[in-house]
Amino acid sequence: MIQGSEISHQKSEKNMASLTELSLAEALDGMRAKRFSATELVRAYIAAQETCRPLNAYVVETPELALEKAKESDARYAKGTARPLEGAPLGVKDLFCTKGVPTTAGSRILKGFTPAYESTVTARLWHDGALMLGKLGMDEFAMGSSNTTSACGPVINPWTGPDPANASRKLVPGGSSGGAAAAVAARAAIAAPGTDTGGSIRQPAALCGLTGIKPTYGRCSRWGIVAFASSLDQAGPVARDVKDAALMLRSMAGHDPKDSTSVQRGVPDYLAALTGEVGGLRVGIPREYRVDGMPGEIGDLWERGAKLLEEAGAEVVEISLPHTKYALPAYYIVAPAEASSNLARYDGVRYGLRVPGRPVQEMYENTRAAGFGREVRRRVLIGTYVLSAGYYDAYYLKAQKVRTRIAGDFAQAFKTCDVILTPATPGEAFAIGEKEDDPVKMWLEDVFTVPVNMAGLPGLSLPAGLSKNGLPLGLQLIGRPFDEETVLRVGGALENAIGFRAVPPFHA
Ligand code: GLN
Repeated sequence: MIQGSEISHQKSEKNMASLTELSLAEALDGMRAKRFSATELVRAYIAAQETCRPLNAYVVETPELALEKAKESDARYAKGTARPLEGAPLGVKDLFCTKGVPTTAGSRILKGFTPAYESTVTARLWHDGALMLGKLGMDEFAMGSSNTTSACGPVINPWTGPDPANASRKLVPGGSSGGAAAAVAARAAIAAPGTDTGGSIRQPAALCGLTGIKPTYGRCSRWGIVAFASSLDQAGPVARDVKDAALMLRSMAGHDPKDSTSVQRGVPDYLAALTGEVGGLRVGIPREYRVDGMPGEIGDLWERGAKLLEEAGAEVVEISLPHTKYALPAYYIVAPAEASSNLARYDGVRYGLRVPGRPVQEMYENTRAAGFGREVRRRVLIGTYVLSAGYYDAYYLKAQKVRTRIAGDFAQAFKTCDVILTPATPGEAFAIGEKEDDPVKMWLEDVFTVPVNMAGLPGLSLPAGLSKNGLPLGLQLIGRPFDEETVLRVGGALENAIGFRAVPPFHA
């Protein structure tokens, strides 16, 4: 016989699970309408965090902190002083410095580093009432597309199957924001701020069935984000749908006097941009994105996306981005060059790990050899080489010129279209370890996303359907500089037309 208390326990468990099903927008509505409290929502997410531990998405869990903040949120709901993201339980990519909470950027070299300051982007989210459940795994220093280069171990994609930890073929969640994508997809975080240098928000979002936006370079502050490649890095949200992405971006974006590359422009109300209307808009299809070896089903999905937008009233036009094929090679000069310079600061003196040695140069060498993983060492070597006297002009300067051409291609294309539609990735989620021996194969994951960073444009990836293997595939929308609104508007319309909501077989 079931006791009364057990029944109510079962009932509350069920309610808790259904709370994590809600999107960010729905959860905020629910709290505003007092259908449930921030504390109840946070408790549901803490339970989800535990259920999802086999994914290895969180590298640090901060449940006490989250519950403390939830109490404050409930007080604000009661007083009618709730802020735009009041009580929203977020996971945070471990590239954002979080005051008093360890931040390692997925690297051994930052082991034991606890920042004394908060990144501007996360500070803005907390200022708007959001709260943190913990820090999320990522490729070391955001270098990678698989989340396998992390010192905290690989993250598993919840689309692997109902029992991901025991599956024989475990899939990657993509990278570098792989922990963010796995946690949001598995309902262990309502949304997560991520970063994107060459695709790190959009590619994992696509591989996990989520929506992610990399805003225009300069839209969000980079202050307090561990630097990878400073001229390419941007923060942006990983979210369940376009509306949630808009909500998150509205709080994350804005000028910051502490980052001179963040722009002095007002932040539009991105929610208001979601009118559902695409009538009269011109959608460009770049002919150079039909790359060799891309599975037919991705081409089909892309065509279908274009057709749906046409049916919704947009005009589809073919465009040309002639320098596309040079984007990836140029990125792999520019990004490592900047990384080698940014990573010079990890010398055993100022941060985290120190491996003793005498004289001091030997201490530097020992620390860096023990602290950096293979991919990071590879990038530091390439970067130092292309910046060295004698090779600087041949490689680095040349890559910068290519970059100008790529930006020029987009500027030209945007004379005849308002937004560009492409696939998000050249394939579905692959198995952990699969592309490990061939860095170039791994780097090809970003063939569609990298040009967007090289040109500094906004890019959104959204789930478009399942592959024949039952795995999510994404489409990408690219916009004019600082025109996140059009990208979100078209994204919202496309999401509606596709009518596809991706829930992985494993979730809380
Ligand atoms: N996968 C790309 C790289 O390894 C991009 C990573 C990123 O955007 N941070 O550099």
